[in-house]
Order: sequence, then structure tokens, then C-alpha cells
Amino acid sequence: MPFKALGLHPLILQAIQETGYTEPTPIQAAAIPEIIQGRDIIGIAQTGTGKTAAFTLPLLHRLHSAAPTRRQATRTLVLAPTRELVVQIEENVRAYAKHVPIEITKVFGGVSERPQIQALRFGAEMVIATPGRLLDLMSQRCADFSALEHLVLDEADRMLDMGFLPAIRRVVNALPKKRQTLLFSATLSKEIESLTHEFQSNPKIVQIGRRSNPADTVTQLAYEVPRHLKTSLLCHLLKDPAMNMVLVFTRTKHGADRVARKLESVGIKTGTLHANRSQNQRLRALGDFRTGAIRVLIATDIAARGIDVDGISHVVNLDFPPQVEDYVHRIGRTGRANAIGDAVSFICQDDHGSLRSLERFIGRGIVRKKAEGFDYSAPEPPMSLEEQRRGRGPEQGGRRSQGPRRDGGGGGDRRNSRSGGRGR
Ligand code: AMP
Repeated sequence: MPFKALGLHPLILQAIQETGYTEPTPIQAAAIPEIIQGRDIIGIAQTGTGKTAAFTLPLLHRLHSAAPTRRQATRTLVLAPTRELVVQIEENVRAYAKHVPIEITKVFGGVSERPQIQALRFGAEMVIATPGRLLDLMSQRCADFSALEHLVLDEADRMLDMGFLPAIRRVVNALPKKRQTLLFSATLSKEIESLTHEFQSNPKIVQIGRRSNPADTVTQLAYEVPRHLKTSLLCHLLKDPAMNMVLVFTRTKHGADRVARKLESVGIKTGTLHANRSQNQRLRALGDFRTGAIRVLIATDIAARGIDVDGISHVVNLDFPPQVEDYVHRIGRTGRANAIGDAVSFICQDDHGSLRSLERFIGRGIVRKKAEGFDYSAPEPPMSLEEQRRGRGPEQGGRRSQGPRRDGGGGGDRRNSRSGGRGR
């Protein structure tokens, strides 16, 4: 089905075309016509399904097609759990609204209130906000939502997890009762259901399952890199803020710890998930990853089995997976539609054969890339005392050709994953 069939305004269709989207994703095809009609929607969809466009495109259509009741009134409010998501939604809306200019304002904590207050007072047709800061500004009487027409609760499940329910209630109580309310969530839990009873009227559920074969939808890249520069290359790539929720795979648990220490030493918040960590430590690492308290989670294949975290922006195979099935499992953690470089594999000299087998297995080629601005000729860094004691693992220095020691030097994970330890 082409976008044209969904009933969107031609100026919005033009922007979609310029963005490079050729056809709607399933959630877009299902939700856009309903939202254009003015219905309340419960969208059950993960990040990566195109859900942002699924609500922003039809709302822009509605804003553009009907004149405001009052000039400069806020007509649409989007509530989202994190600053990152607010920024991401705003970037999307700006692209889609290229030809239908509307005033958009972002509101989130951790920065000065003043510019946000000024923007709200000036009047913005669309406000995209985190609930806490918005409530602060509303209690200072800086926002006027008396003419509001549309409310969106994006990633409602995450907002509940983060304890935003009281703030959301207070915000919603200050909005007109007659409005269109859209709620998006990765799951339809009891809590979400009661939220929809409280805030929506006769909503239609639009549910889209996970993509079945991530290998078809995830953009896959391979960076050729000398073995000793893998961690440096990771630090280099992480300069890109788009890599905001990154799952990194290493072959061994000590490799995971070593990379984590390096990232932390350059100020990148990092956690690890491997067999040497207690259940509590693992749960904490996962929780921190989910909430964004850490940006990078480094895991071994076994430890990462069965973890289900929404919103992972990138998977990095710092060590090439031992088996093709592991590769498919790993990259299945991300599924963003057409984002560039979702799954990134670092390829050393002796990985080329494995890469070619993988390409045959998944039936498509993987683009080889060189990282711009990265110094590929940097010398091998000196071994730290600890590395000298342990022997540097193959994923780092590679000075010990026989690989890591078996007496706790990382062989455990490696052995397991090679011998098909699936299901443990
Ligand atoms: P979201 O689920 O909203 O986080 O979207 C994930 C990614 O998919 C974003 O990078 C969007 O730019 C992209 N995207 C959204 N809709 C489409 C589409 N119809 N075709 C291609 N890419 C899309």
C-alpha cells in the first residue's frame, strides 16, 4: 500500500517522499487512517516499527486541515518518558512538517526553564514534553492547554515504569475532556489498560507484532579494524549521539569487563552482562540500560540470551560471533526500520572467512565501511599490569596467539558459546 492511499495531505506526502520512505510500515498503515478520522488509538508497537510517524503524520494532517480555534493556542501535546525521546520525536515532526510549518516546542528537565517558558508563552501548536518538567511549568501557569485537541502518550509503559503516573494524571486533568487521545506502548499490561480507561474514549487497539526476520530489516555494516584498535573504534563510533542505546557483544566475559573499563574511563556510562555477574547485578545492569542510566551494555552471547529490551538503537559485534545463529540472535535485538548502521560488526583480518559464510547464510551482502576520522595507524597501546598478569585476550591485543587462559581468563563463555550453549 502506498502512503498516498492513507488520506494524508499532499504537502505531508511530499515531505514523506523527501524523507525517503517509500511505503508505510504496518503500524502506520493501520493507525494513520483511524487517527485522521479522529479516533482514539491504543498502539501496541515497539520502537523501530515506525510508530513515531504513525502518530505524528496524521496529527500534522489534522492540524493542517482544520483551522485553530484560537491563534497560537497549543493544539497537540505529546508526552514521552525521556529527553532523548522528546528530541527524537521533535526531529521527526520537523522533517514531516517541512511544508506545513507549525510552531513546535520541546519541554524537558535538566536544562534552563526560561527558554521553554518563553516558547510556551509565545504559543506553540505542538508541545512535546516529559511529564515532570511540563508539570513544573504548568504549575507556574506558563502553559495554556485550554484549546488542546490532541494528546499523545508515547511509550506509556515506560512512563509508568519511571513513576510518571501522578504527573501524567495532573497534566491530563488540566486538559479539555473533549480531545483525541493516542496511547502507544510496547505491551498491553493491566496498568496500561486501566490508563486507557482513565484517559481515552472507545479506543481502537492497533497491534503490530515483532518483525519476524530482523536480518531483513536491520541495516548491517562491517568495519574492518586491526584487532588492537577495536575498543578505540567503538569509542570513536560512540561520538555519534544517534548511538544512544548500544548493546555490545564480546566473546568473553573478561573482554566485556575490559571494554567496559575503557568506555567508563572516557566518560561513557557502561554496564556488563555476563556469567560472572550475580543475578542482582544483571538485573540492575538491564534496568539501568532500559532507563537510559547507562548508554552501553556489554554482553556475552550466553548472558544476553532471552533478554528483551526495547529501543536498542545499535548492536555492535565487537568480536565477530562464533556461529552464524549467534549473529542472527544478536542483531535481532534491534529492529529499527531502515536506520543506518543498526548492526555493526568489527572485522579483523582472520574474520573475513566467517563474514563471507555469514553472508551466504543470511543471503545478503554486508557493506564494509571505514570509519571517518579514525586513526587506523595508531600503535598498539601498552599492556596494563592487569593485562600482563592475565594475558591480553584475543579480542584486544592478540599478543597471546593461544587465546585467553582457561583458568578464569574468559574461556568459560567462549567455550559455551562455541559448543552451542543455547538455552542455558
Ligand atoms: P520509530 O519506531 O518511530 O522509532 O522509527 C524507527 C525508524 O524508522 C526511524 O528512523 C524512522 O525514520 C524510520 N521510519 C519510520 N517510518 C518509515 C517508513 N515508512 N519507511 C522507512 N523508514 C521509516
